[in-house]
Amino acid sequence: MITVKDLHKSFGDLEVLKGISAEVKESEVVCVIGPSGSGKSTFLRCINLLEDITSGEVTIDQDVINDPKTNINQVRSQVGMVFQHFNLFPHKTVLENITIGPVKVKGMKEEAAKEIALQLLEKVGLSDKADAYPESLSGGQKQRAAIARSLAMEPKVMLFDEPTSALDPELVGDVLEVMKDLAREGMTMVVVTHEMGFAREVGDRVMFMDEGVVMEEGDPQQIFEDPQNPRTQEFLSKIL
Ligand code: ADP
Ligand code: MG
Repeated sequence: MITVKDLHKSFGDLEVLKGISAEVKESEVVCVIGPSGSGKSTFLRCINLLEDITSGEVTIDQDVINDPKTNINQVRSQVGMVFQHFNLFPHKTVLENITIGPVKVKGMKEEAAKEIALQLLEKVGLSDKADAYPESLSGGQKQRAAIARSLAMEPKVMLFDEPTSALDPELVGDVLEVMKDLAREGMTMVVVTHEMGFAREVGDRVMFMDEGVVMEEGDPQQIFEDPQNPRTQEFLSKIL
Protein backbone atom coordinates (compact mmCIF):
# COMPACT_ATOMS: atom_id res chain seq x y z
CA MET A 1 0.00 0.00 0.00
CA ILE A 2 2.88 2.37 0.80
CA THR A 3 6.33 2.05 -0.74
CA VAL A 4 9.08 4.49 0.16
CA LYS A 5 12.32 4.33 -1.80
CA ASP A 6 15.47 6.12 -0.70
CA LEU A 7 13.61 9.12 0.65
CA HIS A 8 15.74 12.18 1.37
CA LYS A 9 14.45 15.40 2.85
CA SER A 10 16.47 18.51 3.59
CA PHE A 11 15.50 21.85 5.06
CA GLY A 12 18.15 24.14 3.58
CA ASP A 13 21.48 22.64 4.59
CA LEU A 14 19.95 20.38 7.20
CA GLU A 15 19.41 16.87 5.91
CA VAL A 16 16.66 15.42 8.08
CA LEU A 17 15.84 12.20 6.21
CA LYS A 18 18.91 10.44 4.89
CA GLY A 19 17.60 7.72 2.65
CA ILE A 20 14.58 5.96 4.08
CA SER A 21 13.13 2.90 2.43
CA ALA A 22 10.05 1.23 3.79
CA GLU A 23 7.09 -0.82 2.76
CA VAL A 24 3.69 -1.01 4.39
CA LYS A 25 1.33 -3.69 3.17
CA GLU A 26 -2.42 -3.35 2.98
CA SER A 27 -4.00 -3.67 6.45
CA GLU A 28 -0.61 -3.56 8.13
CA VAL A 29 0.02 -1.44 11.23
CA VAL A 30 3.56 -0.10 11.40
CA CYS A 31 4.64 1.77 14.53
CA VAL A 32 7.51 4.23 14.27
CA ILE A 33 9.52 4.92 17.38
CA GLY A 34 12.67 6.94 18.01
CA PRO A 35 14.11 9.92 19.82
CA SER A 36 12.87 13.46 19.41
CA GLY A 37 14.34 15.14 16.34
CA SER A 38 15.06 11.87 14.53
CA GLY A 39 12.76 12.78 11.62
CA LYS A 40 9.61 10.81 12.45
CA SER A 41 7.17 13.67 11.83
CA THR A 42 9.00 14.72 8.70
CA PHE A 43 8.75 11.16 7.43
CA LEU A 44 4.96 11.12 7.90
CA ARG A 45 4.61 14.59 6.42
CA CYS A 46 6.47 13.45 3.29
CA ILE A 47 4.06 10.52 2.89
CA ASN A 48 1.12 12.87 2.47
CA LEU A 49 3.06 15.65 0.76
CA LEU A 50 2.78 18.16 3.57
CA GLU A 51 6.50 18.51 2.84
CA ASP A 52 7.97 18.38 -0.62
CA ILE A 53 10.36 15.52 -1.08
CA THR A 54 13.99 16.34 -1.82
CA SER A 55 14.69 13.03 -3.55
CA GLY A 56 13.42 9.48 -3.62
CA GLU A 57 10.00 8.10 -4.32
CA VAL A 58 6.81 7.55 -2.35
CA THR A 59 4.14 5.31 -3.86
CA ILE A 60 0.67 4.90 -2.42
CA ASP A 61 -1.42 2.14 -3.89
CA GLN A 62 0.33 2.34 -7.30
CA ASP A 63 0.47 6.16 -7.49
CA VAL A 64 3.88 7.82 -7.26
CA ILE A 65 2.74 10.74 -5.16
CA ASN A 66 5.77 12.96 -5.72
CA ASP A 67 5.46 12.74 -9.48
CA PRO A 68 4.80 16.31 -10.67
CA LYS A 69 1.82 14.99 -12.65
CA THR A 70 0.10 13.69 -9.54
CA ASN A 71 -2.80 15.66 -8.14
CA ILE A 72 -1.68 16.64 -4.64
CA ASN A 73 -5.19 17.19 -3.34
CA GLN A 74 -6.26 13.77 -4.46
CA VAL A 75 -3.27 12.23 -2.69
CA ARG A 76 -4.07 14.09 0.49
CA SER A 77 -7.67 12.94 0.47
CA GLN A 78 -6.43 9.35 0.27
CA VAL A 79 -4.00 9.70 3.13
CA GLY A 80 -5.58 10.59 6.45
CA MET A 81 -3.38 12.29 9.02
CA VAL A 82 -3.95 12.74 12.73
CA PHE A 83 -1.67 15.13 14.59
CA GLN A 84 -0.62 15.50 18.18
CA HIS A 85 -2.57 18.75 18.47
CA PHE A 86 -5.88 17.75 16.81
CA ASN A 87 -6.09 20.79 14.47
CA LEU A 88 -9.89 20.96 14.52
CA PHE A 89 -11.53 24.10 13.15
CA PRO A 90 -12.45 26.02 16.33
CA HIS A 91 -15.41 27.91 14.87
CA LYS A 92 -17.14 24.84 13.51
CA THR A 93 -19.09 22.23 15.43
CA VAL A 94 -17.78 18.69 15.65
CA LEU A 95 -20.25 17.64 12.95
CA GLU A 96 -19.22 20.51 10.66
CA ASN A 97 -15.57 19.65 11.20
CA ILE A 98 -16.31 16.21 9.82
CA THR A 99 -18.59 17.13 6.91
CA ILE A 100 -16.50 19.96 5.50
CA GLY A 101 -13.92 17.70 3.79
CA PRO A 102 -16.38 15.41 2.02
CA VAL A 103 -18.54 18.39 0.95
CA LYS A 104 -15.78 20.80 -0.13
CA VAL A 105 -13.19 18.37 -1.47
CA LYS A 106 -15.29 15.47 -2.69
CA GLY A 107 -18.41 17.37 -3.66
CA MET A 108 -20.64 15.21 -1.50
CA LYS A 109 -24.17 16.41 -0.73
CA GLU A 110 -24.53 17.98 2.72
CA GLU A 111 -27.15 15.43 3.85
CA ALA A 112 -25.08 12.43 2.78
CA ALA A 113 -21.98 13.86 4.47
CA LYS A 114 -23.97 14.42 7.64
CA GLU A 115 -25.19 10.85 7.68
CA ILE A 116 -21.64 9.53 7.34
CA ALA A 117 -20.40 11.96 9.98
CA LEU A 118 -23.01 10.74 12.47
CA GLN A 119 -21.98 7.13 11.85
CA LEU A 120 -18.36 8.02 12.41
CA LEU A 121 -19.18 9.90 15.60
CA GLU A 122 -20.89 6.81 16.87
CA LYS A 123 -17.87 4.73 15.96
CA VAL A 124 -15.54 6.98 17.98
CA GLY A 125 -17.99 7.26 20.88
CA LEU A 126 -18.97 10.91 20.37
CA SER A 127 -22.58 10.68 19.23
CA ASP A 128 -23.65 13.19 21.87
CA LYS A 129 -21.06 15.79 20.76
CA ALA A 130 -22.15 16.39 17.17
CA ASP A 131 -23.27 19.95 17.88
CA ALA A 132 -20.56 20.81 20.38
CA TYR A 133 -17.65 23.12 19.58
CA PRO A 134 -14.10 21.81 19.93
CA GLU A 135 -13.28 24.06 22.89
CA SER A 136 -15.90 22.28 25.00
CA LEU A 137 -14.32 18.86 24.43
CA SER A 138 -11.61 17.13 26.41
CA GLY A 139 -8.33 16.44 24.63
CA GLY A 140 -9.29 12.81 24.14
CA GLN A 141 -12.65 13.76 22.67
CA LYS A 142 -10.97 16.27 20.34
CA GLN A 143 -8.58 13.62 19.15
CA ARG A 144 -11.42 11.16 18.51
CA ALA A 145 -13.26 13.88 16.58
CA ALA A 146 -10.09 14.49 14.56
CA ILE A 147 -9.88 10.78 13.75
CA ALA A 148 -13.54 10.79 12.64
CA ARG A 149 -12.82 13.82 10.46
CA SER A 150 -9.96 12.00 8.73
CA LEU A 151 -12.02 8.86 8.23
CA ALA A 152 -14.81 10.84 6.57
CA MET A 153 -12.56 11.23 3.54
CA GLU A 154 -12.38 7.43 3.24
CA PRO A 155 -8.59 7.34 3.16
CA LYS A 156 -6.65 4.33 1.97
CA VAL A 157 -4.12 4.80 4.73
CA MET A 158 -4.04 6.62 8.05
CA LEU A 159 -0.97 8.32 9.48
CA PHE A 160 -0.85 9.15 13.17
CA ASP A 161 1.78 11.50 14.60
CA GLU A 162 1.96 10.96 18.35
CA PRO A 163 -1.83 11.10 18.63
CA THR A 164 -1.86 10.62 22.39
CA SER A 165 1.23 12.60 23.43
CA ALA A 166 -0.68 15.76 24.33
CA LEU A 167 -3.35 13.96 26.35
CA ASP A 168 -3.78 13.57 30.08
CA PRO A 169 -2.97 9.94 30.93
CA GLU A 170 -6.56 9.01 31.74
CA LEU A 171 -7.71 10.10 28.26
CA VAL A 172 -5.15 8.08 26.31
CA GLY A 173 -6.98 4.75 26.54
CA ASP A 174 -10.13 5.83 24.67
CA VAL A 175 -8.10 7.17 21.75
CA LEU A 176 -6.00 4.00 21.59
CA GLU A 177 -9.20 1.92 21.63
CA VAL A 178 -10.50 3.78 18.57
CA MET A 179 -7.17 3.16 16.83
CA LYS A 180 -7.27 -0.52 17.77
CA ASP A 181 -10.76 -0.83 16.27
CA LEU A 182 -9.50 0.74 13.06
CA ALA A 183 -6.58 -1.68 12.93
CA ARG A 184 -8.95 -4.60 13.48
CA GLU A 185 -11.11 -3.42 10.61
CA GLY A 186 -8.09 -3.63 8.35
CA MET A 187 -7.03 0.00 7.99
CA THR A 188 -3.45 0.43 6.81
CA MET A 189 -1.76 2.55 9.47
CA VAL A 190 1.58 4.19 10.22
CA VAL A 191 1.69 5.31 13.83
CA VAL A 192 4.44 7.41 15.38
CA THR A 193 4.04 6.71 19.07
CA HIS A 194 5.62 6.51 22.48
CA GLU A 195 2.93 4.05 23.55
CA MET A 196 5.02 0.92 23.62
CA GLY A 197 2.05 -1.12 24.86
CA PHE A 198 0.11 -0.15 21.76
CA ALA A 199 3.07 -0.88 19.48
CA ARG A 200 3.46 -4.29 21.04
CA GLU A 201 -0.19 -5.23 21.02
CA VAL A 202 -1.41 -3.70 17.77
CA GLY A 203 1.71 -3.15 15.66
CA ASP A 204 2.55 -5.72 13.03
CA ARG A 205 5.99 -4.18 12.74
CA VAL A 206 8.07 -1.58 14.56
CA MET A 207 10.53 0.79 12.88
CA PHE A 208 13.16 2.47 15.04
CA MET A 209 14.33 5.76 13.54
CA ASP A 210 17.37 7.72 14.63
CA GLU A 211 19.16 10.62 12.94
CA GLY A 212 17.11 10.41 9.78
CA VAL A 213 17.54 6.73 9.06
CA VAL A 214 15.72 3.54 9.94
CA MET A 215 18.22 1.97 12.32
CA GLU A 216 16.27 -1.22 12.94
CA GLU A 217 12.93 -2.75 12.14
CA GLY A 218 11.25 -5.97 13.05
CA ASP A 219 8.28 -7.48 14.72
CA PRO A 220 7.39 -5.80 17.99
CA GLN A 221 8.41 -8.68 20.18
CA GLN A 222 11.87 -8.84 18.64
CA ILE A 223 12.42 -5.07 18.81
CA PHE A 224 11.30 -4.76 22.41
CA GLU A 225 12.76 -7.95 23.82
CA ASP A 226 15.82 -8.48 21.69
CA PRO A 227 16.88 -5.25 19.96
CA GLN A 228 20.01 -5.77 17.87
CA ASN A 229 21.16 -2.23 17.21
CA PRO A 230 22.97 -0.51 20.11
CA ARG A 231 21.01 2.68 19.41
CA THR A 232 17.73 0.83 19.71
CA GLN A 233 18.95 -0.74 22.95
CA GLU A 234 19.94 2.64 24.33
CA PHE A 235 16.62 4.27 23.35
CA LEU A 236 14.52 1.49 24.81
CA SER A 237 16.54 1.40 28.03
CA LYS A 238 15.59 5.06 28.57
CA ILE A 239 11.88 4.70 27.99
CA LEU A 240 10.92 1.21 29.18
P1 ADP B 1 10.68 14.02 15.28
O1 ADP B 1 9.26 14.02 14.84
O2 ADP B 1 11.32 12.67 15.22
O3 ADP B 1 10.85 14.63 16.64
P2 ADP B 1 11.03 15.98 13.20
O4 ADP B 1 10.74 15.30 11.91
O5 ADP B 1 10.00 16.86 13.76
O6 ADP B 1 11.52 14.91 14.27
O7 ADP B 1 12.32 16.87 13.04
C1 ADP B 1 13.55 16.34 12.55
C2 ADP B 1 14.53 17.48 12.36
O8 ADP B 1 14.05 18.33 11.32
C3 ADP B 1 14.71 18.38 13.58
O9 ADP B 1 16.07 18.73 13.66
C4 ADP B 1 13.86 19.58 13.24
O10 ADP B 1 14.35 20.73 13.87
C5 ADP B 1 14.00 19.67 11.74
N1 ADP B 1 12.83 20.29 11.08
C6 ADP B 1 11.57 19.79 11.07
N2 ADP B 1 10.75 20.60 10.37
C7 ADP B 1 11.51 21.63 9.92
C8 ADP B 1 11.25 22.80 9.13
N3 ADP B 1 10.03 23.05 8.64
N4 ADP B 1 12.29 23.62 8.88
C9 ADP B 1 13.52 23.36 9.35
N5 ADP B 1 13.84 22.28 10.10
C10 ADP B 1 12.85 21.42 10.39
MG1 MG C 1 7.53 14.55 15.79
